[in-house]
Amino acid sequence: MTEHGSIIYVEDLTVSFDGFKALDALNFFMDYGELRLVIGPNGAGKTTLLDVICGKVKPAKGRVIFGRDSDISTYREHEIAQLGIGRKFQTPSIYLHHTVRENLELSLHQNKSAWAMLFRRLSSEDGDRVEEILDMIGLAEKPYQIAGSLSHGEKQWLEIGMVMAQEAQLLLIDEPVAGMTEDETEKTGRLLQAIAKERSVLVIEHDMQFVRQIANKVSVLHEGRLLCEGPVDEVQNNEQVMEIYLGRG
Ligand code: ADP
Ligand code: MG
Repeated sequence: MTEHGSIIYVEDLTVSFDGFKALDALNFFMDYGELRLVIGPNGAGKTTLLDVICGKVKPAKGRVIFGRDSDISTYREHEIAQLGIGRKFQTPSIYLHHTVRENLELSLHQNKSAWAMLFRRLSSEDGDRVEEILDMIGLAEKPYQIAGSLSHGEKQWLEIGMVMAQEAQLLLIDEPVAGMTEDETEKTGRLLQAIAKERSVLVIEHDMQFVRQIANKVSVLHEGRLLCEGPVDEVQNNEQVMEIYLGRG
């Protein structure tokens, strides 16, 4: 990555649901090529932050700057996807009746127009890209398996692969290891680290063991604000963080 500065810059962001502030004048930014973990108790506003960045929720106040683009907070979801922000939701949205390979192929160039798609054939370059992603997500041995028959962990990896196939520059991933075995969790950590070598990745997660495995920098959200931010050890020893995680109050 040759670019410098912030890939995403969120300023003074407020989101209200019937007067309740899910995000409260939040400031948050992330550098190019970063793998950032966002943690925080239930209801802290973590998912809402991703919803705003990908255009699903419109803020009452504030700005979202993506790379060199201007404020994208008023853009529609598909416009934001086209700019290069990819979102992986908590429940995988894969095509269950298609093969692993077909799922990836369908995601390639997904952001091109329907007209372009009509005339497109899979180029050899596309084929190489699919192979590369299959390899990265650990499904190289299963390209022709029906996606619906994959394990829970494999489904999650396939969907991460689908976001990669969309050529997103910034990947937003919400609680990827929920429901995974220890083995799958560790594999997911390695996958996200590999992806972060070529893209920027913003991950929301509860599982502190997982956070320790992969995190460089951790941001803690609490009541719609940034409580603290820093290396994982520092954050874990922060008194306020310990308090909210011990569930006091
Ligand atoms: P987190 O992901 O950190 O658990 P969320 O961003 O999902 O938290 O939610 C933050 C707060 O906003 C919660 O109190 C939640 O109930 C509320 N909230 C989220 N989405 C909506 C919505 N669509 N309508 C009303 N309240 C919402
Ligand atoms: Mg959430």
